[in-house]
Amino acid sequence: VPELPDVEVFRRYLASTALHQRLTNVRVTEKRVLGRVSASRLKNGVGGRSLEDTKRHGKHLFVRLTADGADSASPSLVFHFGMTGFFKYYKDEGSAPGHPRVTFDFENGYRLAYDCQRMLGEVELVDSPASYADAHGLGPDALELGEDELAERLRGRRGALKNALMKQELLSGIGNVYSDEISFHAGLDPATEVKALEEGALAQLYRTMRWVLETAIERKADPDAVPSDWLLAVRDRGDRCPKCGSELERRRVSGRSAWSCPRCQKTPKRRS
Ligand SMILES: [Zn+2]
Repeated sequence: VPELPDVEVFRRYLASTALHQRLTNVRVTEKRVLGRVSASRLKNGVGGRSLEDTKRHGKHLFVRLTADGADSASPSLVFHFGMTGFFKYYKDEGSAPGHPRVTFDFENGYRLAYDCQRMLGEVELVDSPASYADAHGLGPDALELGEDELAERLRGRRGALKNALMKQELLSGIGNVYSDEISFHAGLDPATEVKALEEGALAQLYRTMRWVLETAIERKADPDAVPSDWLLAVRDRGDRCPKCGSELERRRVSGRSAWSCPRCQKTPKRRS
């Protein structure tokens, strides 16, 4: 499931391929991936413009369009990748991916396909990233959040660490996989009560979160390319902790499936 590092990889891919070329057509082959925009409004809103700039917010990718002569506003496309979404930029139809749902055609003969096999992703057209984030109650992007702000947002919260990290209203971008990874490297059990985390633990959590997300981006969010002592490298095939060799635990935390190492990860108790 694409989380912040995956979406950042998609952002970089789009930015290095599809910007600054005039769009000649938009083909919607599956309306179910469209958010609150009809196929015709998408087509009219995008045709003749170019993709100008990219911005990621959590798991959402915003692509700003050029202003149109008659209309000085610069709307943005919003992409959410659901479980299976990704982009492919190509020229020959024979190179099209397997499940293109929306395809953007450019004047230079290239196309950008938004492929989303399970159709849990979404494409929308909005006025601005900020208004979209507000309307959807998205908290700040996890990599744009300061250390004090994270502590502020977690202070006094009930519930498990895993749940807090995944709550997009608190901070945006982290899902099931990276909440486990961050908890693992912070040495905290994912079921740790947020309230039990003291100043030092919160500072450590913040540094670990940044390190995990930034390292994952550098490694292209590829499970085969992340450091070998990461859960991500083994979670789908191993049952042993990549740091200490203990049996990993898989259990439900806040209704989600969590991987953790009972030896490497501790559960600080709330002080009474
Ligand atoms: Zn371990």
